[in-house]
Amino acid sequence: MELNITGLIPKHMENRGKLTLKENLKIIENILKQRKVPENGIDEEHIKLLLRLLSFMDTDKDPNVVQIGEREARVYTKLQREGVFDFCHGVGRSGNLIDPQPKAPGASVMYKLTNKLLESFLKVLGLKVRAIATPVATGMSLALCLSASRKKYNSNVVIYPYAAHKSPIKATSFIGMRMRLVETVLDGDVVKVDVSDIEDAIRKEIRNNNNPVVLSTLTFFPPRKSDDIEEIAKICQEYDIPHIINGAYAIQNFYYIERLKKALKYRVDAVVSSSDKNLFTPIGGGIIYTKDESFLKEISLNYPGRASANPIVNILISLLAIGTKNYIDLMKQQKECKKLLDELLDDLAKKKNERVLNVENPISSCITTKKDPLDVAGKLYNLRVTGPRGVRRTDKFGTCYLKEYPYDYIVVNSAIGVRKEDIYKVVEKLDKVL
Ligand SMILES: *Cc1c(COP(=O)(O)O)cnc(C)c1O
Repeated sequence: MELNITGLIPKHMENRGKLTLKENLKIIENILKQRKVPENGIDEEHIKLLLRLLSFMDTDKDPNVVQIGEREARVYTKLQREGVFDFCHGVGRSGNLIDPQPKAPGASVMYKLTNKLLESFLKVLGLKVRAIATPVATGMSLALCLSASRKKYNSNVVIYPYAAHKSPIKATSFIGMRMRLVETVLDGDVVKVDVSDIEDAIRKEIRNNNNPVVLSTLTFFPPRKSDDIEEIAKICQEYDIPHIINGAYAIQNFYYIERLKKALKYRVDAVVSSSDKNLFTPIGGGIIYTKDESFLKEISLNYPGRASANPIVNILISLLAIGTKNYIDLMKQQKECKKLLDELLDDLAKKKNERVLNVENPISSCITTKKDPLDVAGKLYNLRVTGPRGVRRTDKFGTCYLKEYPYDYIVVNSAIGVRKEDIYKVVEKLDKVL
């Protein structure tokens, strides 16, 4: 930048001022040069300046622009501009989400930079993958993956080891594919899907001349256990069929990351995670990552139209502001809070003559209740606790079990960002209502 301030102040002060400015600009230059998530997060003013510089590159900021298109990023209020960080043209082209948009060079750089940063971030966590930020949340990102699978592999049926989340089920019906559920079985307290049953389902569909795609689930509430994504990936490789993993909140815990690493050695076409559950953004964005770059491209091609820049910018801001070191600290805190939660729940269970369900899960825990679990959850809500779920043993959807589960129970989560005081308080309140 050519800043002529010569003669306005004494020369030695001018030099001093320019030096300070240079140091500040260097922070932004380094982000653009290195294209990696910094170890230490950078402050908001520098992030703002980076976004400002980039958005000034978009053609709607050209003071002499002649705008005669039907879509010229004409925005009525400043309030609306602020909502998209002045990237009023959004991201993508109608034909391909990640293609540069000629009317918006700045937003295009912003999107590409976000994806590069995401890749560097996942690499620091141990995942060597290609990644894109998506302008839609987990369920819709799964729909994008399934749609890409249909386009690339003619997939026509989704094999779904039963997990009780409505969004993957709706993602399937949204894109008009049939779903073949693979039923869960009970093993002690654990509700799980046997890999051999998934293989059977694959065989049956292939025998009927269908092209299955497997949608497995890594992150889920106990008593449902994570799917064995490594074994599923091996089977998908053997039968040469696509495999999508729903890892909605997988990025925040190394237990999940290790499992992803193992699965990624075999057939995994895409993993989907939520930006808000992992990266402290408002709800609305997703992350899709894989070793298969051509599948990512297919996903991007399948997105219909342009998209709001807002979910992408939010991911970029989080990555820049948090930094890798702080994120890993937050992961440690999450783990410590989960340990504390389990200790406190164990004590509470003894006191109340209840049980903590014996299900391996790095984030969520379950305690049984002799009261009506819906009533307990309602009382917790009125005690200003958000998050716990109360599930009745007869709730086939909630338990993910099509027969009757042995217990009524309450699920409590210790997800990234949780504080120890939250854990103490929720168990205190559980003590009151259980
Ligand atoms: C949160 C979550 C979803 C849905 O996420 P959205 O971002 O609301 O679409 C789907 N599956 C699992 C396992 C989840 O945890």
